[in-house]
Amino acid sequence: MVDVEATCWEGTPPPGQTNEIIEIGLTVVDLAEGVRTARHRILVRPQRSRVSPFCTELTGLTQAEVDTGVTFAQACKILAAEHNANRLPWTSWGDYDRNQFTRQCKATGVAYPFSHDHTNAKLVFTEAHGLRKRPGMAQALEIAGLPLEGRHHSGEDDAWNIAALVLHLRDGGAWVSAGPS
Ligand code: AMP
Ligand code: MG
Repeated sequence: MVDVEATCWEGTPPPGQTNEIIEIGLTVVDLAEGVRTARHRILVRPQRSRVSPFCTELTGLTQAEVDTGVTFAQACKILAAEHNANRLPWTSWGDYDRNQFTRQCKATGVAYPFSHDHTNAKLVFTEAHGLRKRPGMAQALEIAGLPLEGRHHSGEDDAWNIAALVLHLRDGGAWVSAGPS
C-alpha cells in the first residue's frame, strides 16, 4: 500500500509553485497470512514549492520536517532498491497517488519506481460493498467497521489504514491477487 502527501493550498498553487510529494507512506502486507508486516515513511524535500500553513494543518507536516527529507529522485531510488517497488504489485486508495508519481517523474526526468501492477483499492471496495458512491478512506473504514488508526492525512498512517481495508476485502474474498503488495 502506498499513500503520498503533497504540498497543497486552499485553492490553486501560488504563482511559480506546483504540487510536489512530501511524504510517501508504505505498508507491506502478507496476503497469504492476512497480516500487515511492515510500515515505512519516506519524507521528501520539495524543490519547487513550500509547505503552507494549510498543508501543515491537513498533513501534520511542517517545512522544517520535510527539509530533513531526501530529494524526490532519492526517494524513487529508495523505493526501487530497498522496497522492490518495481517488482511487487502495489495498491493505493484511488488513482491520485499513482498519477502524482507519474506526473512528477515525467516533470523531473526521474525513473518511475513502481511496477505496472497497480490496484485501485477504492474501486474494489466500492464494488465489493455494492456502493453507488466511491467512499474516501475514512468513510470506508466506518463502513468496514474498522478503526482509523493514527492521523488521517498522514501518509504513513493512511497507508497503514488502507492496508487494513485491503485485508478486510481479502477476508471477504473480494481481493484477487497473486503476491504481496
Ligand atoms: P490524502 O492521502 O487524503 O491525505 O491526500 C493526499 C494529498 O492530496 C494531500 O497531501 C494534499 O496534497 C491533497 N489534498 C487532500 N485533501 C485536500 C484538501 N482538502 N485540500 C487540498 N489538498 C488536499
Ligand atoms: Mg494520505
